[in-house]
Amino acid sequence: MKGKVALEEHVSTEENNKRWDLRFEAARHGKQYMANVERRLFDAETRLEEMDRFGIDTAILSLTTPGAQSILDSNQAVDFAKRTNDLITKNFVEPHQGRFYAFATVALQNPRAAGDELERAVKHLGMKGALVNGYTNLGKTDSAQYLDAEPVWEFWDRVAKLDVPVYLHPRDSLPPQPQIYDGYPCLVGSPWSFGLETATHAARLMLSGLFDKYPTLTVILGHLGEGLPQLLPRLEWRLHMQREGMNPPKANRKVSEYFSQNFYATTSGHFHTKSMLNCIGEMGVDRVMFSVDYPYEEIRSAATWFDAAPISENDRTRIGRDNARRLLRLP
Ligand code: MN
Repeated sequence: MKGKVALEEHVSTEENNKRWDLRFEAARHGKQYMANVERRLFDAETRLEEMDRFGIDTAILSLTTPGAQSILDSNQAVDFAKRTNDLITKNFVEPHQGRFYAFATVALQNPRAAGDELERAVKHLGMKGALVNGYTNLGKTDSAQYLDAEPVWEFWDRVAKLDVPVYLHPRDSLPPQPQIYDGYPCLVGSPWSFGLETATHAARLMLSGLFDKYPTLTVILGHLGEGLPQLLPRLEWRLHMQREGMNPPKANRKVSEYFSQNFYATTSGHFHTKSMLNCIGEMGVDRVMFSVDYPYEEIRSAATWFDAAPISENDRTRIGRDNARRLLRLP
């Protein structure tokens, strides 16, 4: 399919890479894989060649890990976000107008400043929303502020007013990792724990009442919904069965209603037709969008799978292009 749009496509800056534990990443992913990723995070030309070859017109770029969420000093995080948004605009978006757009980096260490920066990024830099790498550390590496936390609602208020989506991207669970991963370090990260961490984060949002207060908010999940198309029906059923028990949810509606009215999912890093069909079944075909997760994934893998997947051409056009164009108001 020609003219595809991809939404979970990562870049970096020198400053971000300096804060990144690349030795840990090389141990986790393999040296050669990480060297390749590192190089391609900065290289617009290779990316565009691959996009051309596999029918992707437009990529929405975002800063890769570690991003702003792990900066312990709040003021430093706020400044980092501003610099990052200016750099991504200057290095990628402006030289390749129409091919690249971006999701803003925001520092939720200070939700008001994050709202200000999102507004600046949307109104002055033309960014299409924000991408957040999971929970935010507040002052200590073992602290976590998830996006349902009460202080963050000030940020969500700004998001609702700006009417742009927030992409909830995975992050490693808080150290120390749960004992269940002992002896199996390969389960930590993108193969397994990212999905569980992010699915739980999304469930917190659904149960918090956030979408009752702001019914038009839109959250995008990668990786075909991080397992939620499969997991949510049981969550909903069990919450119903134990409704007289402890800790009833603060939300007014069923999780499946929020999932199909406040969430979108992309195909990033999950190139599997049965999972996509399940995702369409739970969310509707207008809420699933093509993505790659470049450079952690190959554009070739994503596009050759998607272009040949046994769905109607009508659905392929919506998932491959039209849903993203409508949601992000692309020209
Ligand atoms: Mn990603």
